[in-house]
Amino acid sequence: MSSLITLIYLIASAAFILSLKWMSDPKTARRGVFAGVLGMTAAVIGTLFLPNVSHYTPILIALVLGTIVGIPISRVAMTAVPQRTAISHAFGALAAALVGTAEYYLHAPHIARFTMGAIVFETLLGFLTFTGSVMAFAKLQELIPTRPITFKGQNKFNFALLGTAALIGVILVIAPGLKFLFPIFALLALAFGVLLIIPIGGADMPTVISLLNSYAGLAAVAMGFVLDSQLLIIAGALDGASGLILSIIMCKAMNRSFTNVLFGAFGQVQTAAVGEAETRVVKSASAEEAGQVLENSQLVVIIPGYGMAVAQAQHKVRELYDALTKKGVDVRFAIHPVAGRMPGHMNVLLAEADIPYDKLIEMDDINPDMPQADVALVIGANDVTNPAARHDKSSPIFGMPIIDCDKARTVMVIKRSMNPGFAGIENELYFDEKTLMLFGDAKGFVAEIVKSLTGGSGMGH
Ligand code: NDP
Repeated sequence: MSSLITLIYLIASAAFILSLKWMSDPKTARRGVFAGVLGMTAAVIGTLFLPNVSHYTPILIALVLGTIVGIPISRVAMTAVPQRTAISHAFGALAAALVGTAEYYLHAPHIARFTMGAIVFETLLGFLTFTGSVMAFAKLQELIPTRPITFKGQNKFNFALLGTAALIGVILVIAPGLKFLFPIFALLALAFGVLLIIPIGGADMPTVISLLNSYAGLAAVAMGFVLDSQLLIIAGALDGASGLILSIIMCKAMNRSFTNVLFGAFGQVQTAAVGEAETRVVKSASAEEAGQVLENSQLVVIIPGYGMAVAQAQHKVRELYDALTKKGVDVRFAIHPVAGRMPGHMNVLLAEADIPYDKLIEMDDINPDMPQADVALVIGANDVTNPAARHDKSSPIFGMPIIDCDKARTVMVIKRSMNPGFAGIENELYFDEKTLMLFGDAKGFVAEIVKSLTGGSGMGH
């Protein structure tokens, strides 16, 4: 029996590795998802046959409850996937932390140093990732302000808190019998998770989410050592490493130092004063006017953002691409690494609408061409086009690279109002001499432009 379980675990581990490999390319991504599901199914079945698993009733109850909660959250809209992912991390991390807690109370004080070290690591990361991910969920769902919440001496306070938790952890490793310390340790970890996330402003959220993902993976590795499960160690290490690699990629793309992210040293930047009455005016235009400018252009660069995802405008954008291409206009898409609410968000949406992949151009490659663009057409993007990131040191997005829309001859921005984006700050691009605001829902407005270009024979969708 045990060799059968080992075989099943081996298959599951191989499936996880292949899953990650296949998911790194849009062409094989679907296969990657299936491999992941297959691996997880094999892992669960194998675990149910472990000799020390004997009480099936609680497992069955948990299975039913998990299914009841899981099915509706698997059906959320595409735009809600980032917060759904954050809440999944929260559950995964909580599971690891609770397993660690249960192991501690089951076996203390007779716990070997190594195992106790793993329990401390698992519960510390598990609890802080749990509250951190819940906070990330709340920010993404806009249940709490997305702006950084900061106070004086924040970093010192956070370090002191983490330091105290780590110190108690060390004491517990030396003297596992001091049971009264464990709840204090857990509470400190829970509090640290909250404090880690509140100072993080708009632009840094993606990096932090991938970092939390990595922490959840590392907690699972520690759980693997506690439970002596090679499968958990492998799966956790894959999760931890891929989260870490993604964090590093995001840091590079966002021009942030990795050590800053690692130690949570965010939010030192104070946000600009809010609530000042805006007196500047913006120029707006109609769909017909926009259509005329677009068809008389040679190069149009479309900058999609979160608003395109909200409006589900990608199919209409495809029609716009077709209509302009037919008229001989060179249309390209500028993809900012954090446009939308999850890495690769824009690529996924535009691929869904069958926009040729070679027309999607990464930020660093498109920016040198922006001065040659006749029109930079911004569709529901905001923060990723904000020139304040270049020069305004007080801005929470200072230092983040942006798509250089302001270098194009004309800028057109489709959005519904003057409301800010995720970072909660005003965009000075809208007040630029050459900017035309196209107020409306992205899907509806793009459809109107298409209609004006095709003489009313909109292809409809
Ligand atoms: P933003 O959130 O900055 O702006 C989106 C804009 O879309 C809003 O200003 C909104 O304006 C507009 N909008 C919303 N709904 C519609 C609609 N139906 N039709 C037309 N416009 C609409 O998006 P960006 O993509 O520019 O930037 C992403 C932000 O999210 C960055 O700050 C990034 O750091 C952050 N983030 C990114 C993650 C990632 O991994 N990609 C993860 C977490 C956060 P209005 O209301 O006026 O219509």
